[in-house]
Parts: sequence; structure tokens; C-alpha cells
Amino acid sequence: AKAKVVVIGGGYGGATAAKYVRLLSDYKIDVVLIEPEQAFISCPISNLVLSGGKQIGDITTSYAGLSRNHGVTVVRDYASAIDTAKKTVTLAGGATIAYDKLVVAPGVELMFGSIEGLKAANDAGQVLQAWKAGAETVALRRQLEAMPDGGVYAITIPEAPYRCPPGPYERASVIAGYFKAAKPRSKVLILDANPDVTSKGPLFKKFWAEQYKGIIEYRNQHKATAVDAKAGIIKFDVQDDVKANVLNVLPSMRAGTIAVQAGLNNQANNHWCGVNYLTFESTAAKDVHVLGDSIQVAPAMPKSGHMANNHGKVAAAAIVAQLSGWDVNPAPMLTNTCYSFVDGKNVIHVASVHEYVAAEKTFKAVAGSGGVSAGPTELEGSYALSWASNIWADTLI
Ligand code: FAD
Repeated sequence: AKAKVVVIGGGYGGATAAKYVRLLSDYKIDVVLIEPEQAFISCPISNLVLSGGKQIGDITTSYAGLSRNHGVTVVRDYASAIDTAKKTVTLAGGATIAYDKLVVAPGVELMFGSIEGLKAANDAGQVLQAWKAGAETVALRRQLEAMPDGGVYAITIPEAPYRCPPGPYERASVIAGYFKAAKPRSKVLILDANPDVTSKGPLFKKFWAEQYKGIIEYRNQHKATAVDAKAGIIKFDVQDDVKANVLNVLPSMRAGTIAVQAGLNNQANNHWCGVNYLTFESTAAKDVHVLGDSIQVAPAMPKSGHMANNHGKVAAAAIVAQLSGWDVNPAPMLTNTCYSFVDGKNVIHVASVHEYVAAEKTFKAVAGSGGVSAGPTELEGSYALSWASNIWADTLI
């Protein structure tokens, strides 16, 4: 019988792994991808949907390319249980699928319980996160449009590590750009649980001081503990309450729910999943590979789509080699680029290269590699949009 790889989650990590197992095995290994969403909606570029420069359709890609071009069997369902002893996955729809190798790439779970009142406020559609792009992105855009001029939009940022270190600062920036043009008396409040801006700090702060003076206000050391959606109030562990018209409250994050249910979350107070960085195989279960935001990252590795795509390729190569009985000696090298819009057009980036260091069994940033922009430019804006089209094609087409 043909070997079979089952992939849970068709995001940047899982979809890439599904495609590359097919490619690298010369289409000899069967791949089943389980994903509940009808289409892939990208978090990268989704902040521009909030500021009005893009529509949700611009960041949506069909899963049809994976089946049509690569013969991946895409099953629209939700994995509800994994039996790592029997090597099976059970779907919410009731079916059970057996695997030789399993890839678990469910992204992050937002820990609503860490902020009092947040779950109910989210269920009621009052306080949104939009930290998984989709219907919430569109709903948050509507809240921003409906906000009167002179209103306040507040975003809270949980302690690192969380999905996409520069993402909240990019979001605050592009929303400030929208306010500056459309409702100039409005304000953006950034309430950060961290001691300082987590990514590209000097670049963001310089731009805020130059372009968004009186619009963006940044406050560090603000750890949200409760929300009162009706009164529009956010409470913090130490600092004073904050009142705002639009509340965008991001709770702490951990590995996706299915990874936690399967007991793969064996790192960092059970927040993240430990992997062997050479293969991305779980350190908690055999023949299970964990990718993307769910893993305990190596030093200086961000939780990004670019990284998740790279994880997918390293894992696919390891899985194909193992299932084919090839004797290989991999030495993976990963790259990362995160572009951030600071307004509708201008962009800054951070880039890095990470090499596997066998003696320490981890990835380390290569000294002298990567770097950050000198400052925002429209040229980098065009690179950012090209980066997005290229990675969507590499992951899904
Ligand atoms: P995801 O891409 O979230 O994919 C997980 C998938 O698993 C989802 O499709 C989900 O439906 C599915 N799933 C979950 N549970 C199950 C289950 N039980 N059964 C079946 N399927 C399941 N990264 C960059 O590189 N560059 C950027 O510019 C950038 N900008 C960002 C901006 C914002 C606002 C945000 C929020 C993130 C941004 N990121 C960016 C980060 C990037 O989106 C994530 O790091 C990336 O999506 C992680 O990939 P993943 O495969 O781990 O998870």
C-alpha cells in the first residue's frame, strides 16, 4: 500500500507541508489535508483590510490548487481527536483516518480565559481580535468605519511570544493612517504587556513621532486582565483602566487546541510543542510532526507565516526521506522576512537567516545575516505585496 501522510491545518505550515510531501516524493506518497475553512485567508496583509486599502477577497486563496495541481486530498472538516498509539485522526464529521506520518499545524489558540469577560464579549461580537483573518477582520473594519471622529481605538498586546511580533504595531500604524485621512480627531492607543515594542521598535516609534503625533499613543507594561464591553473599558493588572470606542483585545496565545488535546504541548508551561528542529518531529509523540506557530521556537525565531512555510519544507523533506528509507544527512537553513506597512503604502522589513547547529540541536541566527530597513519606503511596499503573492503561490498553488 502507498504510504499516507495526514496534515491537520491548511495554513502556512500545513498547506506547504502537504504540497511539498507530494512534490518531494514524486507524487508517490498520498497526502490528506484536513481543514475546516472553505478557503485560505491570509493574516499577512489582513491589516490592510482593516485600514480599507484591501478587501477580504484580495487575501483569499482557494484550496483547489493543492488538489488540482498536486493531488492532495483536501477534506473540509475539523480534526477533533488524535490517537498517537493507533496512529489515527478522528474528524468532527465522524470519520477516522489512519496515517503513517501526521503533521499537526493548527496555528494558535487564543486563551480567552486569561482576560475576564473576553469570551462573552467576543461571542457577542463586541470585542474582536481578528488575529485569525476572516469574518472577524471584516467585522472589525466595520467597527472602525462606524466609530465617530474623535473616538478611540485601543489594541492590547499580550506578553511575547505571540503570533507575529510586529503584527500589532503594523495594525496600529495602518489604522492611524486611516484615521489621519478619514477621521483626524480620532486616536489609537497601544497597550502593550511587554516592556517595549517587540519588533522593529526604533523604526515604528520614529514613524509614529513624525507622522502620527497626537494620533498614536504607546503605553508599555499594560497587561490586560478584564474587559467590560458595555462600558468600553479594559482593566489592567497594575495600570489604570482605559476607555475606548473600539476594543481590540488580544489575549495570550498557545499551541492550537488539537495539539493541546493530543498532549503535544510539552514546553513553556505547556503553551507550546517541543520538536526536533532537524525534522520537526514532536518530542512528545512518534511519527507526529508539529509546524508553524504551535511549536516552541528556537532562539530569535518569530512566529510568522514565512517561518511556518519554511518549517513545512524541512518537515516534508524529513517525512519523505523517512517513508522512502533514504539515508540523508540534512542541514536545514531557514529564512524569515516580515514586512510591516506603516501606512497604506510605505513598508519596513526585518529579515534573518537561521542555520541548524548540530552540536546544540537548535537553529541559531547566522551572525551578520539579515537586518532591518533604514526607513519606510514605497519600494518596500511593492516588495511586501510581491512577497505575499509569492508565498501564497508557494504554499497553495
Ligand atoms: P495558520 O496559518 O493559522 O493555519 C492554521 C490552520 O489550521 C487554519 O487554517 C485553521 O483553520 C486550521 N486548524 C486549526 N485547528 C484545526 C483542526 N483541529 N483541524 C483542522 N484544521 C485546523 N507572518 C509573516 O510571515 N508575515 C507577515 O507579514 C505577517 N503578518 C501578520 C499580520 C497579522 C495581523 C497576523 C495576525 C499574523 C501575521 N503573520 C505574518 C503571522 C502568520 O499569520 C502566522 O505566523 C502563520 O499564519 C502561522 O502559520 P500556521 O500554519 O502555524 O497557522
